Amino acid sequence: MRVFCIGRNYAAHAAELGNEIPNEPVVFIKPLSCLVLEDKDIPFPSHGNDLHHEAEIVVEVGNNCSNLKEEDAFKYISKIGIGLDLTLRDVQSELKEKKLPWEKAKAFDYSSPLGVMVEYEDQDLKSLNIGCKVNGEERQNGSTSLMLFSISTLISYLSSVWQLKKGDLIYTGTPKGVGPLERGDKIEVFSKEIGSSIWTVK
Ligand code: MG
Repeated sequence: MRVFCIGRNYAAHAAELGNEIPNEPVVFIKPLSCLVLEDKDIPFPSHGNDLHHEAEIVVEVGNNCSNLKEEDAFKYISKIGIGLDLTLRDVQSELKEKKLPWEKAKAFDYSSPLGVMVEYEDQDLKSLNIGCKVNGEERQNGSTSLMLFSISTLISYLSSVWQLKKGDLIYTGTPKGVGPLERGDKIEVFSKEIGSSIWTVK
């Protein structure tokens, strides 16, 4: 099982960080040590200062597959859910400037809280709400309709590079509105169609 993540998948989010709009999906992979379940706290990482929330729709792969056509991709989804792709923005900026890989900024321990997951039952993947609140204040509120690469395009693309495995998770990118978290903050990730999950940053 792996955790795939997609970067810059919403134009307004790419713009808020000064990034160009990609012409193919930007992919990175995190180790399983990134996961934080719903009943656990998020430890603030010790190697950076600017910890950003990125609320994302998460997809679970239901069966092994490779080289999928876009129109077949939905058959290989078992669950859809919500999560956070936490990012040390200060560390990432430094790495980007030096053209180095992003792992220290993205793939650290506890960097991917995984919230509520529901069975995939033909929900419309092109109109899922996704957002988050910090201490009750709304920070992100978007829709998968704004994705540059749709969920089926992402699955098809990933399956052309990797053999996808049952249980793999795909974090599908964040809409605009990313911002900093402090110790003590309560972050709630929500999707009208899926549910909500809350974590405390410790
Ligand atoms: Mg992200």
